[in-house]
Amino acid sequence: MTDIDKQLKQIKDEIIVCKKCDLYKKATLPVIGAGNHQAKIVFIGEGPGANEDKTGVPFCGRAGEILDELFKSIGIKRKDIYITNIVKHRPPGNRDPKPEEIKACVPYLDRQIDIIKPEIICPLGRFAANYIMNKFGLTDKIEGISKIHGQIFETQAPHGKIIIIPFYHPAVVTYNINMKKTLENDFKNLERY
Ligand code: URA
Repeated sequence: MTDIDKQLKQIKDEIIVCKKCDLYKKATLPVIGAGNHQAKIVFIGEGPGANEDKTGVPFCGRAGEILDELFKSIGIKRKDIYITNIVKHRPPGNRDPKPEEIKACVPYLDRQIDIIKPEIICPLGRFAANYIMNKFGLTDKIEGISKIHGQIFETQAPHGKIIIIPFYHPAVVTYNINMKKTLENDFKNLERY
């Protein structure tokens, strides 16, 4: 086990017993994050859905299938990147996470980012985009996800230069099939890196 593995394991142990907000009460398993502990790219979703809640694996349902197709379209494998979420326990009925739930949970995400030290962060959907852009000093660039999706923002993290590329959440494709093309085009911007 490397030092990085040990630090991420410590976070996992804390999340498993976390009671900092009420989400744990109705959740089955927390979804901590998965993938390469030394990934250059970190993807951040919103929160676990029903399938993720049962398995503890991020993006293992329909949104995950769409995400996998997008990865494939630009030659990325899950084992090369790291995927996690803004909140680690499932919001009941897939409702939006509440501000107090986000506030309680993001210190885990902050630590995951500090440990992995990615060069690129791809927030999926508005909750992740808003949090990550605020965190990395891009507050004045925040607009609706319909405006900023696919844009490349260069900024500074404590560990060095970092690129933020916000995407629509892949679940939008389940409501509107035309969004697949938009996501594919936006992923091409990531492919350049
Ligand atoms: N949607 C998310 O935002 N995250 C998951 O892990 C699954 C679906």
